[in-house]
Amino acid sequence: MKYLIIADIHSNLEALQAVLEDAQNYGGFGNVWCMGDVVGYGPDPSACIKLLKQLDPLCVSGNHDLAAVGKIDIADFNSDAARANRWTSGQLSDEDREFLLMLPEVIVEDDFTIVHGSPRMPAWEYIAYSFTAADNFKYLTTRYCLVGHTHVPCVFEEEEGMANEGYMSHGDMLALGDKRLIINPGGVGQPRDRDQRASYAIYDSDEHNIFNYRVPYDIAVTQDKMEQAGLPQFLISRLASGI
Ligand code: ZN
Repeated sequence: MKYLIIADIHSNLEALQAVLEDAQNYGGFGNVWCMGDVVGYGPDPSACIKLLKQLDPLCVSGNHDLAAVGKIDIADFNSDAARANRWTSGQLSDEDREFLLMLPEVIVEDDFTIVHGSPRMPAWEYIAYSFTAADNFKYLTTRYCLVGHTHVPCVFEEEEGMANEGYMSHGDMLALGDKRLIINPGGVGQPRDRDQRASYAIYDSDEHNIFNYRVPYDIAVTQDKMEQAGLPQFLISRLASGI
């Protein structure tokens, strides 16, 4: 069985559509696992929720999802993120809100724990460095962990209480073995590794591997919608630079 692994869609419908289409080039997928931040930043929160719901995903909540439905305070957000979040809240229908409110913060499925940030602090903590990953292996009860939140595709491998770190590029294959791993598929809707293409992964449970992929999407269309919605300029321009 193949699983589409996605995170940080961030209301970017063009990026999400490109990923769903592109995955067909690699054999498609039976299930979808999503590590949260479905909304926030981008111009299409409702349409992204609707499309994702059709895929019947296993999905956890991210900090932006929680903030959009008032489950956490936006006091900890920077001003652009807070502005976009207030705008997002105003766009949600009752069904959208209900979907976001129902998302759990942690899902355990087979050998995988699925969270937005980290096993230790599911909604908030960024696993950007190997020392953070090493600490988080102590909180992990499964062999593998899928995270999002940093918008950077990478893998951390546990080794004698430490963690080795590796960046994942387009087409890279990760073999799943005995070692414990924390895996980030990168961001669909707002990549931050200087590659502006949407990032995602496909897990093959028969072959025991995960491939990372990148796909271009029509960034100008997303940016135009953001301009029209009056979303912050930095959030608009960063899509083109991938930072
Ligand atoms: Zn995010």
